[in-house]
Amino acid sequence: MRAAVLTEFHAPLAVRDDVEIDEPGPGEVLVRVAASGICGSDLKAIDGKSPVARRLPAILGHESAGVVERVGAGVTMASPGDRVIIAMTGNCGRCEPCRRGAYGGCRSPIRLSQLGQMRDGTTRLRVDGQDAYPFIGIGSFAEYAVVNEEVLIRVPDALPLAQACLLACGVITGVGAVLNTAQVQPGSSVLVVGAGGVGLNVLQGAVLAGAARIVIADVNPDKLPLAEAFGATDTLLSGEDLPDQVGKIVDGGVDYAFDATGVPGVLAKAFAATRDGGTTVMVGSPPNEPISLMPQQLFFNRTLKGCAGGGGLPARDLPRLIDLVASGRLDLARLISATVPLDGINGAIDEVRAGRLARAVVTF
Ligand SMILES: [Zn+2]
Ligand SMILES: [Zn+2]
Repeated sequence: MRAAVLTEFHAPLAVRDDVEIDEPGPGEVLVRVAASGICGSDLKAIDGKSPVARRLPAILGHESAGVVERVGAGVTMASPGDRVIIAMTGNCGRCEPCRRGAYGGCRSPIRLSQLGQMRDGTTRLRVDGQDAYPFIGIGSFAEYAVVNEEVLIRVPDALPLAQACLLACGVITGVGAVLNTAQVQPGSSVLVVGAGGVGLNVLQGAVLAGAARIVIADVNPDKLPLAEAFGATDTLLSGEDLPDQVGKIVDGGVDYAFDATGVPGVLAKAFAATRDGGTTVMVGSPPNEPISLMPQQLFFNRTLKGCAGGGGLPARDLPRLIDLVASGRLDLARLISATVPLDGINGAIDEVRAGRLARAVVTF
């Protein structure tokens, strides 16, 4: 099959047509990929900075949707022809943490997919006869992916797969950070730092939650008009004195601040921009650097939270998000700044890196 392969870090992906993929094993499903968004985590993997993409060759891509082609033995959660989103995690529902509702702690071997392995510890991909590893167990910069049945979420016919794919990472992460992690209250004030793919979805979440004041900040002024169109009440060109800039808009600081940049130093500034008792959420993948905070600020009842994949549960949250898209309360179409064929992936990655695209989607 055709796939974009990461054979060495810091290098362009190699688009090849001879990547081998096995038939799905027990509990596994072969999905024909229709669309896969290019996310900041893919870029981090290319740069060798992702703790879950250490082994090469790797097939990146983890924000995807497609159509079920074939199912392995014993599969009950999907059938050939199903239009599906491939979620980033699934839960077994049977282990002790799952039964307590502590889904993040699921101990099922399906969680091996986070490291690019199937539940039996092997991989279904080969490049030049050598095992290849699908990023987060997905590897959707490819015509096909073999995934565990637990990660598939059905998509209604009315929703184009090129839009549905965005729900799998950028949307569930951004909206989930607001609704699950921070639990933003109606009438509150929100700061979003970073107006890229994830930040715009934090913004959409804040609108859904009924925030009265939504301030969005970015270092790139070109990104701010789109943020306004998504419902930001105030936009800021973020500078060194971000907390002061925010204080001039919301006296005393905001109720909730979200760092959607992953840039070292930004989280501390977002934290300092909250009021006494405020909550700050680190959204998306973290920088590999310590966080420097003033304990004095923490003392005044502030909260700092992390949030992996929107702090929720894809099997519960993705169907809700699909319903919100259907009712017109969540906008996917305007998040997409470009669609490219697989051959155009390296050019699109360069554009995303340069901050010229909010979200680029590879379509097949
Ligand atoms: Zn992602
Ligand atoms: Zn479990």
